[in-house]
Amino acid sequence: MSPPVLDIADLERRLLAGERAALARAITLVESRRPDHQAAARDLLQRLMPRTGAAQRVGITGVPGAGKSTTIESLGCALTAAGHRVAVLAVDPSSGRHGGSILGDKTRMERLSIDPNAFIRPSPSGGALGGVARKTREAMLLCEAAGFDVVIVETVGVGQSETVVADMVDIFVALLIPGGGDELQGIKKGLIELADLLVINKADADPAKAERSARDYRNALHILTPAHRDWTPPVLTASGLTGAGLDTLWSQIRRHREVMTANGARASRRADQDARWMWAMVNDRLTEAFRAAPAVAALVDETEGAVRAGDLPASAAADRLLKAFGL
Ligand code: GDP
Repeated sequence: MSPPVLDIADLERRLLAGERAALARAITLVESRRPDHQAAARDLLQRLMPRTGAAQRVGITGVPGAGKSTTIESLGCALTAAGHRVAVLAVDPSSGRHGGSILGDKTRMERLSIDPNAFIRPSPSGGALGGVARKTREAMLLCEAAGFDVVIVETVGVGQSETVVADMVDIFVALLIPGGGDELQGIKKGLIELADLLVINKADADPAKAERSARDYRNALHILTPAHRDWTPPVLTASGLTGAGLDTLWSQIRRHREVMTANGARASRRADQDARWMWAMVNDRLTEAFRAAPAVAALVDETEGAVRAGDLPASAAADRLLKAFGL
């Protein structure tokens, strides 16, 4: 039996009407590896482009156990109660086809997942970070076209995933746990340079400890040059569990939007992201075509082996492969 013919116009109409089933279907199309699906997804995205961009795009990172799902659930429910439509996406390059992901294998966000004004989608599974990032970014555009005005992209700090998520959102929030001694680890990892807002979570468990932790981060931030002269990342304390402090978190997200819209930084951040995005896609497709070229494919293993063994300088190896490709 041949698969049902895709009616892109119908999918577009239903998605624009805010139907979550249509949104889910469209994201599945974006995630599909089938060339006809990919062509259809590109077509759909092209049609929907004018309807994208209106959401507040929020990235959230934190180590496993920091309280990301608890906090997103509380914040998300508060936002839908206030009339927002909230989409939650994830970037988890460790996520496999059959589970085993860091973000995905718990029952997460039980209240938010049944909220008619919320849409939760786990990380696209498997593959390199670049592919996962592309799919998530396109899913974000689809969510915007479907009328979600808040898109939260969640990630664990695995490898480069934090950088990748920071590069697709307007504001990047680091969720931290108050802790003894190692609480400033984020600074070493460069996380602080990426974060626009720091939240010390679990403040309900030990408020004094959370405050001390927040003070330490504020002091540390003073000695760093802020990424933007108009915005020094605030350090808040909150509890994802009780919801305390989440209203302040949201008002700071709104303040960031106002400040960065007024000075033009928000628009230029998005413009930079889009331009980098274009080049990333060009690079990906070129590399794909390069590796698929028979003359390159015939040489690539042997050439890489020779480089690894120290028998061939990397520059000469690159030259050989590029010549085989015709460059
Ligand atoms: P994630 O791995 O970052 O998504 O973390 P979870 O949201 O799954 O939270 C990990 C654990 O910490 C769970 O047992 C939560 O109930 C608990 N937790 C999360 N937020 C808070 C909080 O604000 N206060 C307290 N006391 N516990 C929390």
